[in-house]
Amino acid sequence: MRAVEAVLTYGGGWLDRAGQLRADPARLATLLAEPTSTLLPLWRDHCLVAADLPVRLTGDRAAGALAVADETVFLGMHDGSAVFAVDLSGLPEAAAVEVTGAGAAVDVRALVGRLEPAEAAVQAYARGLLHWHRQQRFCGTCGASTDARGGGHVRACARPDCGRLLFPRIEPAVIVLIEAPGAPERCLLARHAGAPEGAYSTLAGFVEVGESLEDAVRREMAEEAGVTVTDVAYVGSQAWPFPAGLMVGFRATAASEDVRVDGEELLEARWFTRDELRERTAAGRPLGRVDSIDHHLLHSWLAAGT
Ligand SMILES: [Zn+2]
Repeated sequence: MRAVEAVLTYGGGWLDRAGQLRADPARLATLLAEPTSTLLPLWRDHCLVAADLPVRLTGDRAAGALAVADETVFLGMHDGSAVFAVDLSGLPEAAAVEVTGAGAAVDVRALVGRLEPAEAAVQAYARGLLHWHRQQRFCGTCGASTDARGGGHVRACARPDCGRLLFPRIEPAVIVLIEAPGAPERCLLARHAGAPEGAYSTLAGFVEVGESLEDAVRREMAEEAGVTVTDVAYVGSQAWPFPAGLMVGFRATAASEDVRVDGEELLEARWFTRDELRERTAAGRPLGRVDSIDHHLLHSWLAAGT
């Protein structure tokens, strides 16, 4: 399997993040007041949409949203204009919809297929960053309140004798396509707890403290499926800010075909040939969410063989 060359959904994006501006609050304040600057409003992890597209606010609409926003973060620059996200989560849903001139509040994942990939990436970026702010209002060291700094890319404890800085957190997870050790070529898919009968996907798990990504692949596959893997190779990664994930895709080879699921996270696991997977897709059973790296890993593997 070759490394990912395409940008997966929620990666890329149409912004220059312009990180150097985050340390210049006066410049950011000036940009925020400029009529060409754009605000992306969000309400409790949802985009505010009109005609199925996220609204972008300028002028009076932007001023109205800023006046009632809980948080404003600098996302970056586009064609010489600044782009900010504003969190309207403190309002009732109807008020957030009204102040932005939108028609509804919708999760970005429900808009995939209608949004340009670059737009989905920026909306997901805004969603993840604003979610983090709502979770970090207090200092974990002393319990005092925290304030946003750096254009919204850091929070600082307000107590002078503490002053702890909090940075946005990302929670990495590994997702692995495991190949069988011998012929015929097959891959291991599992049914996860809560998944309906017959719904299979690749195996995944969170990276723990003190582990490399490769360590996490070996541990998770052993714990969940009783499989020892070798030849662990990186394939690609995907931003997954729902709320704070980073999915890191790997391929690995099982040392044996024996599988023993844990019965908790995985209910069953079995080997599939490419023909079996093609039959499933032909029967209208998709391989993973279309916006997921799971989908990409499986389709790449299908494309790599006959
Ligand atoms: Zn503190």
